[in-house]
Amino acid sequence: MMFSRRCFFALPMVFLFPGLLQAKPPSKWECTYNECDPYIYDPQKGDEDNLNGDHPIPSGTAFEDLPEDWICPVCGSPKSYFIEL
Ligand SMILES: [Zn+2]
Repeated sequence: MMFSRRCFFALPMVFLFPGLLQAKPPSKWECTYNECDPYIYDPQKGDEDNLNGDHPIPSGTAFEDLPEDWICPVCGSPKSYFIEL
């Protein structure tokens, strides 16, 4: 049976590599533009309807992995205005 075979494989993996389960979640980043809300980028949410529109950011995208032309969806500031929380 497929399911039980996969469990049999996954369990020893957890013992061998406990770090896999404790990976540090990607940090949130806050926009520092003084007239911004401020907007906080949460990698777990992504940015599905950002101002650039044509390339929504899927959830799970780390701030570091955002495209260089990504801008704050609230005030339009570039990535350089953001600080790590
Ligand atoms: Zn902003």
